[in-house]
Parts: sequence; structure tokens; C-alpha cells
Amino acid sequence: MNGIKQVNCPTCQKIVRWTEAETYRPFCSKKCQLIDFGEWAAERYGIAEAEGESPAEADDEINDER
Ligand SMILES: [Zn+2]
Repeated sequence: MNGIKQVNCPTCQKIVRWTEAETYRPFCSKKCQLIDFGEWAAERYGIAEAEGESPAEADDEINDER
């Protein structure tokens, strides 16, 4: 039986086992976590800036699955 869930690191797509040992899951490493957070923050800024220009594009946030 293999009950260990596996996910892909959002940053580099490497397989990450969803276990207590993987401190940075769903990321494979702290580096990938920081990279992803940086991009996420940048995107948030981009969306906030663009909001005034195109209020009809609200789907962008719904696409962001956790
Ligand atoms: Zn990674």
C-alpha cells in the first residue's frame, strides 16, 4: 500500500512527497518556496495595478487553486 500523496513543486515541477519530512511542501525546497512567493507577490502587485484599467477580468483570482 502506498498512501503517500505526491505533488509537483509549483516552482520546478519536481515530485514532492507529502510527508512531515517535507518542510516546504508543496515545494521541494525553501528556495522554490521563496521563488514562488516572490512571483506571487509580484503578480498581486500586477493585478492591483491593472484593476483600474480592466475591471472585467476578475476570473484571474478564481483560477488560483490552492
Ligand atoms: Zn522545486
